[in-house]
Amino acid sequence: MAKYWNESIECMAPDDMKALQSERLVKQVRHVYDNVPYYRNLMDEKGVRPEDIRSVDDLHKLPFLSKADLREAYPCGLLAVPQSECVRIQSTSGTTGRRVVAFYTQHDVDLWEDCCARAITAAGGNEDDVCQVAYGYGLFTGGAGLHGGSHKVGCLTLPMSSGNTERQIQFMRDLGSTILCCTPSYAAYLGETLHDMGLTPDDIKLKAGIFGAEPWTEEMRRSIEKSLGIKAYDIFGLTEISGPGVAFECEEQTGMHINEDNFIPEIIDPETGEVLPEGSVGELVFTSITKEAFPLLRYRTRDLCKLTRGKCSCGRTLIKMCKPMGRSDDMMIIRGVNVFPSQIETVLIEQGYSPNYLIEVDRKNNSDTLDISVEMNADQFSDKMKDIQDKEKHLAGAIKTMLGINPKVHLVSPKSITRSEGKAVRVIDRRKLHD
Ligand code: ADP
Ligand code: ZN
Repeated sequence: MAKYWNESIECMAPDDMKALQSERLVKQVRHVYDNVPYYRNLMDEKGVRPEDIRSVDDLHKLPFLSKADLREAYPCGLLAVPQSECVRIQSTSGTTGRRVVAFYTQHDVDLWEDCCARAITAAGGNEDDVCQVAYGYGLFTGGAGLHGGSHKVGCLTLPMSSGNTERQIQFMRDLGSTILCCTPSYAAYLGETLHDMGLTPDDIKLKAGIFGAEPWTEEMRRSIEKSLGIKAYDIFGLTEISGPGVAFECEEQTGMHINEDNFIPEIIDPETGEVLPEGSVGELVFTSITKEAFPLLRYRTRDLCKLTRGKCSCGRTLIKMCKPMGRSDDMMIIRGVNVFPSQIETVLIEQGYSPNYLIEVDRKNNSDTLDISVEMNADQFSDKMKDIQDKEKHLAGAIKTMLGINPKVHLVSPKSITRSEGKAVRVIDRRKLHD
């Protein structure tokens, strides 16, 4: 059984990979300079000429692009080929503001699907598998990317899209799905629904899940693995750079291998833009070196993360990124303290609660307030007020230990928090709504 989708790339000696990247980068910079006036202006302003970029070591000389540039150049300002050569448009989910669109040539679609095929193979997928794609289909890249990857691998592909949760379980059983692809929050919901339908993991054939498109914790991973009886693999991507499959996890489950033959990663200091040494935490930046239609150079993702290169037990040599710790704009500053939703999720699951919660931040009498509604499961539910108050106090204490600030915890009845079928919305910051 093939262990790799493309062994010569995935296990390439690092020096050879660097040479390949350098060759592609030089060509790509020329392509962008000649065809994208928006980026040519940025390079001219910085005084960088295409011939100044001779290898990956010169990458830092290039100007950055950010989501603000994409919005300014919306929709076609960063297109590097005539529109007639493009065959597809996808769009971001708009989690953090106005959507941006990305264009693809057929070659771009092929390379993207190839990246997803690598991810499916790394999760143990092959032509004997039945792959249920429950990411949303449509403009969102999740459905399209994994669908294409699943076809390439030769899996029997179930294009379910998200939603219609009981039918998902029914098809999973009837057709014997072995691999599930969706957001981690939807996987948790599917696990819960399976149990609500009176079924156990023994009633389904799933062996692996490929979950991404939103941040999730290790605690959440273990909880999903248990409820569905599978091994859960992380997958990372963003529309601007292609979609899911920019990086994927192997069986070691200690970070995601970046498809470096297509995307060169850097970690920068988000304040100064300076490139940080390997192993430092900072903002992840990508340069697409193979894309034709929408080739972004030094695109700032706003995802906070760390890169490590080293031998992986799976045999791949591709550099690894850690699970993103959230986007710089997911971070909330509450009473002066930096808080990530993932820290709260970690405590909740450790304390035996489900990953169904809602964080609400507001400002009252010039002071920030933090309210966390957490769902109890049927066993935790009690009709004694005192019991619930004790549990709330205990949980608030555990969260205070993690964050350093006191939240107000509200335990709410089972099934009262809306479930997510795509990317979960777990934070409402009313301070922003007032501004
Ligand atoms: P939007 O920016 O509107 O959410 P995308 O659908 O393109 O649009 O989402 C890309 C973003 O999703 C990434 O920049 C990252 O913040 C998040 N993301 C994707 N995969 C993961 C993952 N495996 N873990 C954490 N965050 C992820
Ligand atoms: Zn590995």
